[in-house]
Amino acid sequence: QEDPDFWNDHNVQVLVRTRPVSNSESVGAGFTRCVRQDSAHTITWLGQPETRFTFDHVAGESITQEDIFRVAGSPMVDNCLRGYNSCMFAYGQTGSGKTHTMLGDIDDLDCHPSHQRGVTPRIFEYLFATIQQEVILREQEHLRFVCKCSFLEIYNEHITDLLDPSSTNLHIREDAKTGVYVENLKEVEVKSVHDVVQLLIQGASNRRVAATNMNRESSRSHSVFACSVESKWESNSLTNIRFGRLNLVDLAGSERQKSSGAEGDRLKEAANINKSLSTLGLVIMILVDVANGKERHIPYRDSKLTFLLQDSLGGNSKTTIIATISPSNVNALETLSTLKFAQRAKFI
Ligand code: ADP
Ligand code: MG
Repeated sequence: QEDPDFWNDHNVQVLVRTRPVSNSESVGAGFTRCVRQDSAHTITWLGQPETRFTFDHVAGESITQEDIFRVAGSPMVDNCLRGYNSCMFAYGQTGSGKTHTMLGDIDDLDCHPSHQRGVTPRIFEYLFATIQQEVILREQEHLRFVCKCSFLEIYNEHITDLLDPSSTNLHIREDAKTGVYVENLKEVEVKSVHDVVQLLIQGASNRRVAATNMNRESSRSHSVFACSVESKWESNSLTNIRFGRLNLVDLAGSERQKSSGAEGDRLKEAANINKSLSTLGLVIMILVDVANGKERHIPYRDSKLTFLLQDSLGGNSKTTIIATISPSNVNALETLSTLKFAQRAKFI
């Protein structure tokens, strides 16, 4: 499953995934497509003017959850076990398939793994399978792993712990030794896929409850499921320690927030949601410049999301963006805007 060439020399990989036409879109004869896939790397937006985009990967409607994992998920695990950090983001308008891609069907995952389970559960299946193998292979080195997970939500630039929803408005701190962390965020040790799935279910349910209680749409919040993997082994009577971190991010819907008519909190909310997304876009763009040898200031601290992920964006870290789009002409403008974001992440 290892794909050593996934990132090549680049630290940012962009994959575009078109979801299938939905039932409501295919009603009547009114459906027209707004995109055409030309190859495994190119996709054409069919509006005026027709625009062709090239990405690392273009995944059509027939691409399965397993395919997405194999292309984009497994390299993250390999990278993590080598001691590097990585981030996967799902970016796109509400309804385009972000949560389907990241999480998929998780409801009865612990007893009947569904084919529709997303990249996150698959990443942990592969992580734990690999860990088990390694521990046996390197028994003489007394290789051991400790994996800890956290799950948080950023809404309107406020951080809530999805594993302990009474913890709201958490603060990001920076420590010279341990790097950036969220103060008082719950971290749970996990030893199996089952443990991880329990956390995913718990967090997803808390996210729904929070959204309902606060009368807000969950499509406006970002969720970050993180796992730190520590490995320890002995060689020449020395103990070696290695850390790697996985960040799996389901971003807020990228559609423009309707600020017309919004007042007070709603207006502030709209501005802040765009701020986290636009700062992320900016940081990624600047990172591409830095990778090309330019010296630039990277505005990590301008939003909660980028500050939180500071140690996992840039440097030796690997970033994967999965841009999800709808194929329907009804969503043509949002689809174009997503394709442009994804392209900027890759080329500017
Ligand atoms: P988002 O999280 O971007 O708002 P969702 O992931 O909830 O969007 O997807 C919206 C709907 O479309 C869901 O019912 C989901 O199951 C379906 N869907 C999205 N992507 C796919 C896909 N690739 N294959 C099948 N169904 C999909
Ligand atoms: Mg969603």
